[in-house]
Amino acid sequence: MFDNLSDKLDRAFKVLKGQGSITEINVAETMKEIRKALLDADVNYKTAKAFTDEVKQKALGENVLTSISPGQLLTKIMSDELTKLMGGTTAELTFPATPTIILIAGLNGAGKTTFSGKLALFLKTQKGKKPLLVADDVYRPAAIEQLKVLGGQIGIPVYANLESKDPVAIALEGLAQAKQNGNNVLIIDTAGRLAIDEAMMVEIEQVKKALNPHEILFVVDAMTGQDAVNTAKVFNDRLDFTGAVLTKLDGDTRGGAALSIKSVVNKPIKFIGTGEKMEALDVFHPDRMSSRILG
Ligand code: GDP
Repeated sequence: MFDNLSDKLDRAFKVLKGQGSITEINVAETMKEIRKALLDADVNYKTAKAFTDEVKQKALGENVLTSISPGQLLTKIMSDELTKLMGGTTAELTFPATPTIILIAGLNGAGKTTFSGKLALFLKTQKGKKPLLVADDVYRPAAIEQLKVLGGQIGIPVYANLESKDPVAIALEGLAQAKQNGNNVLIIDTAGRLAIDEAMMVEIEQVKKALNPHEILFVVDAMTGQDAVNTAKVFNDRLDFTGAVLTKLDGDTRGGAALSIKSVVNKPIKFIGTGEKMEALDVFHPDRMSSRILG
């Protein structure tokens, strides 16, 4: 994960590491290299610029120039700022009601259905919850089947209604079933499209309006870089989601989405997907991700 970015940042620091004294020019040059590394990792331009400006200002303010180990001090500042860039603290899910309703949104192929299964398993095994999954994709019977198969594998009930073409009605039926069967979390897996589509947005807005979910999680493929951030912006403008889920971080992603989403849409990343298996889900911790990036 992010090997390329880590290598480039490491190289950018080389000039400063181990040096007894550095100049303001050294710092400026290092910042230029860091900005380049971030842009190469597909970080949004404004985000990269604001980030390096902030690090530079902190570095000069905290007397990096007169410090005995300027490289180390700058690494510490970078680490703190990267953590801040990714949201600062861990954004946990909350369970304000019974059942807590979680709406899953995103484009096709982002990993919504896989994430819905992973989340249900996580909530069951790590949080002692009793989730019900709702298959709310009325366009792709295969998606309903996929969720049913996943539910079977992880021992989580799945509500589906193959007769209905009304996502609001299906979601409400799912809610009624959860109440009846004592499920304290309802996870609604919605339909996506290949690209942003007005009809899809209207439909999911209607589901939101009818169900009034406590969490709306926007699932996005981290491999899509800047596109991921642009899609996040559109979904957030329409749905005001409560958190993002970055999938496929196990792949050869450059990392840009992880670093840009919070600053662009001001919503935290709550989970990351790190594989196809149901267990391949992690709560997103900005500080741990920052240490990982800096190596
Ligand atoms: P949906 O259309 O948004 O519901 O997407 P799916 O859940 O069907 O996922 C699309 C593809 O991405 C499937 O082949 C999944 O196995 C795969 N996938 C989902 N999440 C991850 C992940 O975190 N890592 C990897 N490597 N593959 C994933």
